Amino acid sequence: MNAGSVRPAVPFLDLAPMTREVMPEIVRRWDDIVASSAFIGGQLVEQFEDDWADYCGTRYAVGLANGTDALHLSLRALGVGPGDEVVLPANTFVATAEAVVLAGAVPRFADVAEDTLLLTPSTVEDAITPRTRAVIAVHLYGQMPDMDGILQVTRRVGVPLVEDAAQAHGASWRGIRAGAYGAVGCFSFYPGKNLGAFGDAGAVVTRDAGLAAALRSLRDHGRAAGEHVRHERIGTNSRLDAVQAAVLAAKLPHLDDWNTARRRIATRYAEGFAGLPLRTVVEKPDAYGVHHLAVVRVPQRDRFRAALADLGVATGVHYPTACHRIPAYREFSTGPLPVAERAAAEVVSLPMYPHLTDDHVLRVVKAVGEACDER
Ligand SMILES: *Cc1c(COP(=O)(O)O)cnc(C)c1O
Repeated sequence: MNAGSVRPAVPFLDLAPMTREVMPEIVRRWDDIVASSAFIGGQLVEQFEDDWADYCGTRYAVGLANGTDALHLSLRALGVGPGDEVVLPANTFVATAEAVVLAGAVPRFADVAEDTLLLTPSTVEDAITPRTRAVIAVHLYGQMPDMDGILQVTRRVGVPLVEDAAQAHGASWRGIRAGAYGAVGCFSFYPGKNLGAFGDAGAVVTRDAGLAAALRSLRDHGRAAGEHVRHERIGTNSRLDAVQAAVLAAKLPHLDDWNTARRRIATRYAEGFAGLPLRTVVEKPDAYGVHHLAVVRVPQRDRFRAALADLGVATGVHYPTACHRIPAYREFSTGPLPVAERAAAEVVSLPMYPHLTDDHVLRVVKAVGEACDER
């Protein structure tokens, strides 16, 4: 019997219970949108931007069409372009590297720490060259790296720190939330993220009024503030629409509870896996992680995943190839990055979402134990 070929008993992600929880609030806002015909921009978008900036503990938020644009347009607003290099971890979603190339710059991949699989001050240091114009710290799986140490490096070199917080809504390092450390914090609200829309959406947060203004212009065809037909720069169309803002506004009051639920599941996994021959991603004492993904490492990944599938547990891989080894990005590789490469061969993501039931969590723990026995 191969249970993996039918609908798994424990899905990797099920957004339906979350949607049910917030649907009445969304319907109420939907009626306002239809009544006002303000479909793009407008009051709902501005209100969400204010609320999101407050939540992150910073001044401004600029709503955008997706997280990739948040990174790409941030780099452009910071003046990064052709001839420049941007340092980023090799262990990230490809969009981080893509944004650098879209801005016309060259990605310089850095290795990551063995325990957290995140950048460290010294791996950033190793990737800095005289052409470095920015560093992107990625809060992968929901945990922020040593932000104080990395800021010390970027300050000494004199380049801005960009946060890719697409997996870290509400995470913090020493009490400061994701997005509030760097010159800019870039968020994706893709449906499966910790705060997700009903489609694509994103935002940049910043305490810098000039950067916020540049991003508002870039997202709207380079328009000058408040003007419709004067274009002061080459921009693009990356606006946040009111329907997505309404969904995000309805979900935001629940985000902290949902993150708490994720943390509880992560704790139960950690307890359940104690003594098993698999490694987990370590959460540092200074980090408050929001567990976007529950990642474990096993040497024989394919067999492990097949065993779990047979036991009705769906899994994912984030990500199977370190960025500098992806064919389209190989031209930017400057040599081996052993920790990121080994991790890419071993990581497995287990089901992790706030509405995962206690029953399902138990089932995952039991299945992981059996899959380890089988190896
Ligand atoms: C999801 C994600 C992005 C890209 O966001 P989109 O909204 O899909 O464009 C960028 N970086 C990381 C780490 C992500 O997880």
